[in-house]
Order: sequence, then structure tokens, then C-alpha cells
Amino acid sequence: MNSKDKAIFIKNADKQLKNSCQVIIISPGKGIYDYKIKGSIDIGQVVSVPLRKNIYLGIVIAKGSNNFPQYKLKDIIEIYKLPLISMELLNFCYWLSDWYMCDISQVLKMVIPAVNFISPVKDRAILKINNKSNIATTVLGKKVLEHLKKNPSLTLSECSREVKVSYGVIKKLIFDQVLVIDSDNEIKHNKIIKENTPKLNQHQLEAIKKIKSIASKKNNNVFLLDGVTGSGKTEIYLELISDEIKRGRQSLVLLPEIALSKQFIDRFEKRFNFMPAIWHSEISNKEKRKTWQKVIKGEIKVVIGARSALFMPFSSLSLIVVDEEHDSSYKQEDGIIYNARDMAVVRGNLSNSKVILASATPSLESVHNANIGKYNRIELPERFGSAVMPRIKIIDMRKEKLSTNQWIAHESKEAIKKALNDKEQVLLYINRRGYAPLTLCRSCGYRFQCINCSSWLVNHKVINKMLCHYCGYKEDIEDECPNCKSKKEFAPCGPGVERLAAEAKELFPKARLEMIASDTLDNSSKTENIFNTIALGNVDIIVGTQLVAKGHHFPNLTTVIAIDADIGLSGGDLRASERTFQMLTQLTGRAGREKKKGYAYIQSYDPKHTVMEAMQTGSIKNFIKVEADGRKDRSLPPYGRLGSLIIQSSNLDILEQFVKNLSSKAPKIHKDKDRIDILGPAPAPIAKLRGLYRYRFLIKGKGDVRIQAFIKEWLLNIKIDKVIRIKIDIDPYNFL
Ligand code: ADP
Ligand code: ZN
Ligand code: ZN
Repeated sequence: MNSKDKAIFIKNADKQLKNSCQVIIISPGKGIYDYKIKGSIDIGQVVSVPLRKNIYLGIVIAKGSNNFPQYKLKDIIEIYKLPLISMELLNFCYWLSDWYMCDISQVLKMVIPAVNFISPVKDRAILKINNKSNIATTVLGKKVLEHLKKNPSLTLSECSREVKVSYGVIKKLIFDQVLVIDSDNEIKHNKIIKENTPKLNQHQLEAIKKIKSIASKKNNNVFLLDGVTGSGKTEIYLELISDEIKRGRQSLVLLPEIALSKQFIDRFEKRFNFMPAIWHSEISNKEKRKTWQKVIKGEIKVVIGARSALFMPFSSLSLIVVDEEHDSSYKQEDGIIYNARDMAVVRGNLSNSKVILASATPSLESVHNANIGKYNRIELPERFGSAVMPRIKIIDMRKEKLSTNQWIAHESKEAIKKALNDKEQVLLYINRRGYAPLTLCRSCGYRFQCINCSSWLVNHKVINKMLCHYCGYKEDIEDECPNCKSKKEFAPCGPGVERLAAEAKELFPKARLEMIASDTLDNSSKTENIFNTIALGNVDIIVGTQLVAKGHHFPNLTTVIAIDADIGLSGGDLRASERTFQMLTQLTGRAGREKKKGYAYIQSYDPKHTVMEAMQTGSIKNFIKVEADGRKDRSLPPYGRLGSLIIQSSNLDILEQFVKNLSSKAPKIHKDKDRIDILGPAPAPIAKLRGLYRYRFLIKGKGDVRIQAFIKEWLLNIKIDKVIRIKIDIDPYNFL
């Protein structure tokens, strides 16, 4: 997609409005209404307006529609003193709602997540020591000064409480001008006082030169920064950010898993000597509100965030970085279904920002876009410094003779032994949480299944529960089979990360072992601690899921072993191979990142699979070509378009009836009919999820046909029962 192909919805020409205006109401499903204006008003102004008996927040988007006589219009209630929401951002929201076929009001809610975001945050009045006269005369006064030197930015009451002195003591110091009252509105994010810049190598310098020279021509600002893990991509975009800060402009860095970003933030702080603003779901609303205010005023220059940071009201955005651009967590699957990587490109175009998509294993979509010249490819050929890529060995598990309930191959065991002897770290990886993915009763064959979903329950020994990985349903592990009542007859089938950890512990009892999975790390400080401990070398064997496979830099880790590397390859997901390849490349990239040589062992039951062959030869280009040819033959993305309709209901009869009816109503005459196929309806692979039954249609378009127009026409005249929910997913990543 290309935002430049499409009409811009709002034009600068009618920016200042008189008499009447249209206001879009920020509340799902409400829509756009006309209001009267006294004087004039600007597009992008945030207002509150009456609608029926309520008052809503809204944004002025256009001049009045003139569908109503002026005297019938209501007045705007309040015009907020706030910088305008930029045309660029409004157009971005329109673009997104049009592409993903979702409600614009809901999209704008991402821009203004809560009503209180628009009212300024009150500054705290804090005590500061007056450098011109900092001599206190009394003992208590001295105590106050000592405390404030160590703890700057306290309010009067905080200081009084902490030093245990009366207000009077502090007030006297203020009266004597030893202390002054200042506001806490110190801007911490906008200036480089002192920068620790590394000396870039030739490849890095060339990359930056190329980016700058292309960007200065202003006609194609999207860059695919393609280089193996550890090749110095991050240093390149930090350099670009540095430039933008110096020009007084704003940058946004999107990271896939923000919990993993502590290392990144430390690195940022070390270089720039200030903290970037951070934005993700775990940041409190209060903190977000402060950040939001400073971003709209242009006071914050760098935001590091998860995908929702893409909706922030930047006033002078100039650079968007999407790190690990191939990561599927950029795809938002609930609420507004969108892909932040793709939308970063759109926002970049609309705001004339440079967009850097960085990855060691770029997505096929981005590679394709670079091949056809839509993106500029910037390549970094090798690891930075003396580090080299690890040696990779595929272990053929069909030839492996392991006793039952063992998963670590002989050669892997030898490798672990050797690493431990050499005082190096080992990472054992398996992409499966819990102890065993399936549990059955030995007597009657009963399988533990979720009550809400069509999925097996996964045994988690750490918390002693059976868990559904789709809906979170939990039940206790009973002694008795719910079906045949026989006791303690359960057989766990297959390995999960907990079971693998148990096996490793048994094999290497003396090694310091740490197991890491998303459900065993309940809070981020615990996560940070563990990762620090590992980085310091105080763990010998790390057993983990994909949480440890990405982004980390553990200097002493030399040996990586992937158990059941084929897990992700089964099923009908069109990106299964691509994703497995990316994951294994990320994973093996953790080994030998510094001076010591790295080794990776990949255990596979299908060693001839293209993914395994690509891992063995290390030829990313060849893999991508084979994969791309396969997709081309079948007109799959990036050579075609997909949209999926998921129809859900708690009532299976009504659902099946509806789906049948819907199927028969597909447009027979449509200008693109010949280029569009409808697959389905079929029960979804997860036929029941969270208590709802599910059917799917897959809409497949050839080339870059607009499947959205077709879907719109299809759904236009369909009566939708109250118990039916339709989810539209354009460019789907999830096929369950
Ligand atoms: P990538 O983002 O491609 O994985 P990084 O930018 O993180 O690579 O670089 C890998 C390692 O090399 C990091 O530890 C980084 O600090 C270091 N590094 C990269 N470029 C330089 C440089 N020019 N000078 C010093 N160290 C560098
Ligand atoms: Zn469930
Ligand atoms: Zn039983």
C-alpha cells in the first residue's frame, strides 16, 4: 500500500473555519455533526460538544456541511487550550480507518485515549536551593538543605515530612531566600548536553550517508535497514535520532516487545544522557498524560514505544524507526485490527518523516517493497567488530534414539557439556509454554480440554494448573480423571519449556539453571533482574521460550540449542516458514555475540525442509526467493491481498444460518469480481474461542486489487443479528 496513492481527506485550504463546522465525536459509533461557531475555529481544534443529552469530546475536522440551517445548530461547549491535532495525524487516522474498515471515532480514541489527557498537568511547586544564598543559619535549616541536596525536586510538604521539620522551618528558609520555589516542569527530553558518540565503521558511515542523501530528495523516505544481528543497525538509527534532536525535531522508535527494551533504554541514556519518553500499555495513565502533553507541545523529542505510540500527537515528527520490523507483534489483533509496521510507513509518508524498518530477517513484504523500489534498501554485511556469525548444525531427530520423555539429542548434550566445561552459557529454546501441551488419561484416553475453546489444556507445573493458552481459562490439577475416575493415571504428552528445564536439571544437576517464559515472569523488575543476572554470567543454562530468543545481548552465551524447531511449521499459516526462519535466525543470533565463537544446534524432524536448509546454508536471500516464488504462484501476499471475515456467535444455529445466508449474498457483479476469490465459509481452526463459535471467510485478491471495496459492498445490505459479531481483518497474520 502507499499512502500517496490515496486522496488526502482534509486539506489545508479550509483550515480556518467560520459560521459552522463539522465535529467528529470521539466515542465509538457516534459520527460527525455540525456545530455553530462564534468567530472562527481551526481544523484540529479539540472541543466538547452537546449531543442529545450528553457532552462529548470531539475534533473539528471540516467546515459545516450546510445540511442544516444555521439557526438549528447547537453551540460548541468548550474550546480547549491545546495545540491543534495536526492535519497529518487526522489524515493518518482517516487513512487507517479507511484501509482497515473500522470506525474513525474509535481510531481517534487512540489519539486521545482519555478525556483528561487534554487538560494540562499541574506542575508541582518544588523547592530549589538558591545558589546565590545557600547558607542556612539554624541546625534544622542545615538539615533541610542537606536533604535537598541529595533529593532534589521535593515539594514543601514532602520535604517537611522526610526531614521531620515543621512547615515553619522551611518557610523561614524561603523567606530568607535560601530556598526558592520552582516548577517541576523541567523538560528532560529535548536537548543533548553531552553525547557519547561511538566511532562508526565504514559500512555504518556509508549507510547513514545514503539515507541522508536519499531522504533529502523527499520523494521516497522509507528505508529497509537490512543487516545480520549485531551488525550495528541500532547505532545507525541512534545517529539519525541525534541529528533530529539537534534540528529540534521529533523521533519515534517502535519496539516489538517493550518489556525487552530496558537494555535499549539504558543504551539510549548512556549515549544522550537523558531519558527518552516511554509509551506502552504498562505505563500509568498519569505518566502517559504528561508525556502526551509534552509531545503535542513539541517538548519531548524522542518517544520509544509499543505500537500504540504511533497515534501520539507529535508536532514535528521527522523520523520513525520500526525495529525488528518483521515481528508479528506489530499486528494488533483486538479492537482496531492494524499492523503498526505498515501504518508507520503511512504516517511517515503523511508527515514527511524518514521511516527506518530495521531487521536481520526482514519480512517478505518489506523485501518485496525494496525489490520493486518502493523502499530503499540499506545493507550492512557483517557483524560489528570481531564477532562472527555462529556455526549452525541441523540435528536429524528421525535418526536420534532417545529414551521416552527425553528431548535433548546426544550431540546437543555433548555441546552443553563442552560449553559448561569452558565456563560458557547455554540457551535451550523451545517455543512452547508449560510442562506438556497435552495431557491424557491412561485408562480411558480422556483429554483435558478448555470449556470455552476448542483447544487442549496445557499442564503448567510451576503454578500447578491446567491452562488454556487461548482464553486463559484455568483449572486445578485433580487426582482423579473427570471421566473414568481412575486415580493419578495422567500422561503428559510432548515437551514444554518446564519439562525441558526438568530434563536439563537432571542431566546437569550442578549447573545454575534459569527457566524463562512469559508466564513465569510476573513483573518487569523480576524480568530485568533475571536478564541482568544472565548478562553478568551468573547463570549457566537458560531454558526459555521466544521471550529469550529476541534482542538480548548475553556476552558469555556461546551455545544455543533449539528443541522441536519444527513446531511452528505445521498448520495452514501462510507465514509459517517465514516466521520459523526469522525466529531461528534471531535465536541462533544470540550465540557468540562477542569474542567467543558461537554454536547453534537445531533439532528437527524435517531436516530437508526449506527453512532448515536455509538455516544450514545461511542463505537468507535464497530462502526468501524460494518462499517468494511459492507465494507468487498462489497470489498470496505480498503478490496478492488477503482479508478475513471472522463471524462469531454464542449460538451455533444462528451462526450457521447467518454464514450460509452471507455466503449467498456475495456480490455477483463487481468491477473486480474476476480478481477476487472468496474461500469459505469454513469453521475456523479454533472453532470455538472464549465461548463463541467461529466461522471464517478468506477474501483473496490478485495483485493490489482493493478487496475492501468488495467487502464493503458485500456487507452493505446484510441484516446482522444481535448475537452475531463480524470481525474484519485486512492483511491478516492470524489464521486460527
Ligand atoms: P544490531 O542493531 O544490528 O543488532 P547493534 O547496533 O546493537 O547491532 O551493534 C551490535 C554491537 O556492536 C553493540 O554492542 C554495539 O554497541 C556495538 N557497536 C555497533 N557499532 C559500533 C560502533 N561504531 N562503535 C562501537 N561499538 C559499536
Ligand atoms: Zn480457552
Ligand atoms: Zn480416564
